[in-house]
Amino acid sequence: MAYDFDLYVIGAGSGGVRAARFAAGFGAKVAVAESRYLGGTCVNVGCVPKKLLVYGAHFAEDFEQASGFGWSLDEAQFDWPTLIANKDREINRLNGIYRNLLVNSGVTLHEGHAKIVDPHQVEINGERFTAKNILIATGGWPQIPEIPGHEHAISSNQAFFLKELPRRVLVVGGGYIAVEFAGIFHGLGAKTTLLYRGELFLRGFDGSVRKHLQEELTKRGMDLQFNADIERIEKQADGSLKVTLKDGRQLEADCVFYATGRRPMLDNLGLENTGVKLDRKGFVEVDELYQTAEPSILALGDVIGRVQLTPVALAEGMAVARRLFKPEQYRPVDYKMIPTAVFSLPNIGTVGLTEEEAREAGHEVQIFESRFRPMKLTLTECQERTLMKLVVDARTDKVLGCHMVGPEAGEIVQGLAIALKAGATKRDFDETIGVHPTAAEEFVTMRTPVAG
Ligand code: FAD
Ligand code: NDP
Repeated sequence: MAYDFDLYVIGAGSGGVRAARFAAGFGAKVAVAESRYLGGTCVNVGCVPKKLLVYGAHFAEDFEQASGFGWSLDEAQFDWPTLIANKDREINRLNGIYRNLLVNSGVTLHEGHAKIVDPHQVEINGERFTAKNILIATGGWPQIPEIPGHEHAISSNQAFFLKELPRRVLVVGGGYIAVEFAGIFHGLGAKTTLLYRGELFLRGFDGSVRKHLQEELTKRGMDLQFNADIERIEKQADGSLKVTLKDGRQLEADCVFYATGRRPMLDNLGLENTGVKLDRKGFVEVDELYQTAEPSILALGDVIGRVQLTPVALAEGMAVARRLFKPEQYRPVDYKMIPTAVFSLPNIGTVGLTEEEAREAGHEVQIFESRFRPMKLTLTECQERTLMKLVVDARTDKVLGCHMVGPEAGEIVQGLAIALKAGATKRDFDETIGVHPTAAEEFVTMRTPVAG
C-alpha cells in the first residue's frame, strides 16, 4: 500500500524534531504535527527559559560580590516584566529557528492536535494522513496532586508567564524543577520556602551533594522545610493563599508552585484505536528499539518515561531515524553514564554512580572529597563553598562517579563524562595536568581518600 508518509511524527519537541529531521535527511517522506509550540517543552517551558531565569537570578549575588573587587553600584533594581519579555523574544526567535530547521530539511509541518485513528492513520485539523510508521513524541505535562484547593497552585508551565514576581512563594517538591525554581524565585528577591515530603530533597543524587546543597541554600536564607506536605490551599479575600500543612501548621503565600513530577502527554491521542500498551506508571511501553506493542507505532522521549532529559530524547530520536531509514548506521542509545546538572544556585553537576549506588552494587569504594571556598569569593563576604567528590572502585581503580556542587558544575561535569565513558581510572585523573587556577583542577588533584 502507498502511504502519504513514511513516518508521521506527533510532537515537535526535542525528540520528535530530531527524529523527523534525520529521517528526512535519510530520504524518507516525513510529516510532523505540533499542537502548541515548536521546539516542545525544552525550548518553550523547560531547559531554555529556565536557564535564562537562572542567569537572571544569579545577578543578585554578582552585584553583592562586585564590591569586594572595588565596584560600587547604586542599589540594584530588578524588573520581572523586562526579564519575561526578553525571554519571550528569545523563545520566539528559537521557534522560528525550529520552523526553518524542519522546513529546510524537507519535513512537512502540520500545526494542530494530532489524533491516531488507526495504526497507520493520523487525523489533524479535520484531515487524515496515512503513514507506514507513526512516532509518538508527545512529551510530558506537570502533575499536581488533587488536594483541596490545587486549582490555586501553579506549575512550571505558568511560572514562565507570571505577570509579576510573587512576594512570597511556596515551592512544593524536591526534584530538579522544585530546586531550580526555588533558586530562581529566591535569587530574584521573593521570600521562598521549599516544602519537601521526605527527609532530604533530591532523592537519587549522591548523599554528600544533597547535604551540601541543603547547607548552601540555608546559608543563602532560603527556608527549607523537609518532612512537610500540603493538605489544602485556600484563597483569602485579599488574593493571598492560606496553606495548611498535614501536620496542622499554616503558612501564607502569594504563589504556591508545584513541581511534583510529570505525567506522559497522551490526552486525546487516540491510543484506544491502537494496540499500544502503557507501563505501570502510565508511560508508553516500548522495547529497546522504541517499538510499542503496535507494530507500526514507535515512541520516544518523555512519553516513554525512561530518562526525562533533552539530550536523551535527542539521542533516542537519532536512534529511531537510523533504525528505520539508515539501519547500517544504527547504534543503540547507551543509558549508562548520562551526565546531568541541576541548575540550582549553586549548580549541581553529576555523572556516574553515587556513593550509595556504588556500595549497593557491591563495589569496594574509595571516596575522594574536597570542599573549598571558590577563589572568586575570597575578596568577598560570601561564605559559599564548593563540593567535589569522586567515587572510585578500590579494586579496579576505575572512577565510577563524579559529583560537584558549585559554580559551573554542569559545564565541568560534561568533560568528566567523556573520561568516565572512556573508562578512566583514578590514576588517569591523577596523571592529568590541571588547568590553573580553576576550580575544575581540583578533580585531578585529590590524593587522599576519605577515611572509612
Ligand atoms: P517535548 O519536548 O515535551 O515535546 C513534545 C511535543 O509534543 C510538545 O511540543 C507538545 O505540544 C506536542 N504534542 C503533544 N501532544 C500532541 C498531539 N496530540 N498533537 C500534536 N502535538 C502534540 N532537560 C534537560 O536536559 N535539561 C534541562 O535543563 C531541563 N530543564 C527542564 C525544565 C523544566 C521546567 C521542564 C518541564 C523540563 C526540563 N527538562 C530539561 C526536560 C526536557 O524539557 C524534556 O526531557 C524534553 O523536552 C523531552 O522531549 P520530548 O521530545 O520527549 O517532549
Ligand atoms: P522529579 O521527578 O525530578 O521530582 C518530583 C518531586 O516531587 C520529588 O521530590 C517527589 O518526591 C515529589 N513528589 C512527587 N509526588 C508528590 C506528591 N504527590 N506530593 C508531594 N511531593 C511529591 O520531577 P520534576 O517535576 O522536578 O521534573 C521532571 C523531570 O524533568 C525531572 O525528573 C528531570 O528528568 C527533568 N528536568 C531536568 C532538568 C535538568 O536537567 N536540569 C530540570 C528540570 C526538569 P519523592 O522524591 O519523595 O518521590
